[in-house]
Amino acid sequence: MEKPRLFISRELFKDIIERLSEHFQVEVWDRYKPPPYKVLLEKVKDADALISLLTDRIDEKVLEEAENLRIIAQYAVGFDNINIEAATERGIYVTNTPEVLTESTAELTWALILATARRIVEADIFTRWGEWWRKNTGWHPKMMLGMELKNKILGIIGLGRIGGRVAEIGKAFGMKIIYYDVERKRKLEEKLSIKYRGLEELLREADIISIHTPLTRKTRHLINEEKLKMMKRTAILINTARGAVIDTKALVKALREKWIGGAGLDVYEEEPLTLNHPLTAFKNVVLTPHIGSATYKARHAMAEIAAENLIAFKNGEEPPNLVNREVVKVRKPGFK
Ligand code: NAP
Repeated sequence: MEKPRLFISRELFKDIIERLSEHFQVEVWDRYKPPPYKVLLEKVKDADALISLLTDRIDEKVLEEAENLRIIAQYAVGFDNINIEAATERGIYVTNTPEVLTESTAELTWALILATARRIVEADIFTRWGEWWRKNTGWHPKMMLGMELKNKILGIIGLGRIGGRVAEIGKAFGMKIIYYDVERKRKLEEKLSIKYRGLEELLREADIISIHTPLTRKTRHLINEEKLKMMKRTAILINTARGAVIDTKALVKALREKWIGGAGLDVYEEEPLTLNHPLTAFKNVVLTPHIGSATYKARHAMAEIAAENLIAFKNGEEPPNLVNREVVKVRKPGFK
């Protein structure tokens, strides 16, 4: 039998492509920009398998074109860019890459917490561009004052893998930790001595609020104008989950009218963030370009996992990181 055809929507690591080439006829979209939607529609027509990124909109139309497609291995833990219901109906398996990016994303979350609380970016610009020199203040008792974290309250929204690790690191800073989730996580509550709160209570109590839910119908704009108004005027909002969990317009209003103390953001409703976006105007906001999992270790491991899922599927096995479990009722794994 001919090897199944695999389309990879962005250049991954060479060793992983070589490994996949032993099992598949591989085509790689090797440009720096994602394939335009029209190109994606073309490419999926001939593909039996796909490695997708969160920049690829895999909607019903794409799935309709993809007559031969049997598996989508998403190169990310989040999969809100894929119409999972439509894929399941068509018997298309969808997998993701959990666990291996937990550490890198939790660490980036902490980088944003510290950078926002201690005004690191603002201080860097102040030093680098000679503002400190021009002012000639030397050491000043009131220069660049920020928030000390010890004994402050960290509120985690979504205590899953990444949220749990962020909480764990928070203990090392001597923070008190509360969380909100759809389900109580009693084991973690005990292990880390952290407390459950309703969402509104958490928003009212916490000094730092960090979002770690997936983007779903229920979490879209979970943090809206009403919720932002509940936060302390000094509180900092961190988002390394998905941009659309926060209503951006409401966040800009909250920052402009000083309802909250600042924000650290890695993800946005529209990516890339446009030039001169209103969020770029605030000194108390730290912005990174969706780099939560961007460590060599995590990104390579994510590619390995995507490959393992594809190879398992090809061997007629259920892939280890299957997202749409119900698909097994529609079709057995494998390309035959
Ligand atoms: P996870 O282990 O599934 O954790 C998500 C947590 O959110 C779970 O505890 C889940 O509860 C909870 N949750 C789901 N719906 C909720 C709701 N409506 N309200 C409150 N909590 C809710 O996922 P993870 O591996 O930690 O990843 C979390 C998200 O981070 C991903 O979905 C992805 O979008 C994002 N992410 C971003 C980057 C980046 O580059 N910035 C990198 C990695 C991940 P249940 O378990 O009960 O469903």
